[in-house]
Amino acid sequence: MTVKAIGAPAADKPFEPLAITRREPGAHDVAIKIAYCGVCHSDLHMARDEWGGALYPCVPGHEIVGHVTAVGAHVTKFKVGDTVGVGCMVDSCQHCPSCEEGLEQYCTGEGSFTGTYNAPTPDAPGYTMGGYSESIVVSENFVLRVNHKPEQLAAAAPLLCAGITTWSPLRHWNAGPGKKVGIVGIGGLGHMGVKLARALGAHTVAFTTSESKREAALALGAHEVIVSKNEDEMAAHAGSFDFILNTVAASHNLDPFVALLKRDGTLTLVGAPEHPHPSPAVFNLIFSRRSIAGSLIGGIAETQEMLDFCAEHGITSDIEMIAASQIDEAYDRMLKGDVRYRFVIDSATLG
Ligand code: NAP
Ligand code: ZN
Repeated sequence: MTVKAIGAPAADKPFEPLAITRREPGAHDVAIKIAYCGVCHSDLHMARDEWGGALYPCVPGHEIVGHVTAVGAHVTKFKVGDTVGVGCMVDSCQHCPSCEEGLEQYCTGEGSFTGTYNAPTPDAPGYTMGGYSESIVVSENFVLRVNHKPEQLAAAAPLLCAGITTWSPLRHWNAGPGKKVGIVGIGGLGHMGVKLARALGAHTVAFTTSESKREAALALGAHEVIVSKNEDEMAAHAGSFDFILNTVAASHNLDPFVALLKRDGTLTLVGAPEHPHPSPAVFNLIFSRRSIAGSLIGGIAETQEMLDFCAEHGITSDIEMIAASQIDEAYDRMLKGDVRYRFVIDSATLG
């Protein structure tokens, strides 16, 4: 089936309308008409080939929500009309130790997991194309149920990446009552991190480089806000954090954040900048047995757990809806930090 999409024809070219092919649903597949798709900074990194290896035309988008239009003969979990989501993965080996533990994002099977865009697939054109499109066909094991109210659907889309990418490390490192948790970078991921850390019961501190986000971060649920460029503000919190989650999309000095950790505290990186961070200072780590860690999205089971938690607690993303034709402008604004806090494409505008 041919469907409408938008894609980048090359790293340095604006997006353009495309017609792309979706496979006919197989026995275990779910066909989804996409209602909305969030715009993640990873989409920008990939479309502009900042990580290398991008394939063109590139159709990004891995914060997909919509409705089921058809199911294969062996599909048991979904039926036509269901409200569903698709995140960053559309397949994995399903039998390596990580997949068996429900951590498909760390699949060690051949070729690892299949990303929603720019990953090898037997389907034409040989690599996956994402959610900046009218519809998608996905194995039922990688389809999530979205229980939010219909009017919350667009604002639920960013949970499929920004939500799970912050939820998974917050849960893994036990953010909750009695813990002091920092979230660095109040963009798409970071604003979800603040909302989720607060909802999990942690004392939540937002770190921003933008003085203008001070009040806004409190409104998102932060108990405290630190403008990270202000050394005195930073110094007042030295050695006090159990956990800090860093979502910043650009290379920067990690040492000022490591210095804020307690003994045995962890700074976890989820931001994936084009250029590496400067090497951290060793003494900052060894004298307090501190750790620097990384974390990748989240597994399917924990994504469902996060979506259900958010539906129950009325948690969504703060979004700005855009038409498909505004995507280049949206990327430029995202680079300037000029988004509160996630752009979402209305798929009805694909033409
Ligand atoms: P975003 O909306 O652009 O937010 C990034 C935030 O980082 C900005 O709003 C800004 O917050 C802060 N920042 C500080 N200095 C910056 C600079 N020089 N350039 C850019 N940002 C700067 O991006 P996002 O969608 O949240 O994604 C953040 C990063 O996470 C990206 O690198 C993305 O690829 C990565 N990511 C990783 C995973 C994973 O699984 N690990 C999943 C999704 C995305 P302040 O204004 O508050 O300082
Ligand atoms: Zn993403």
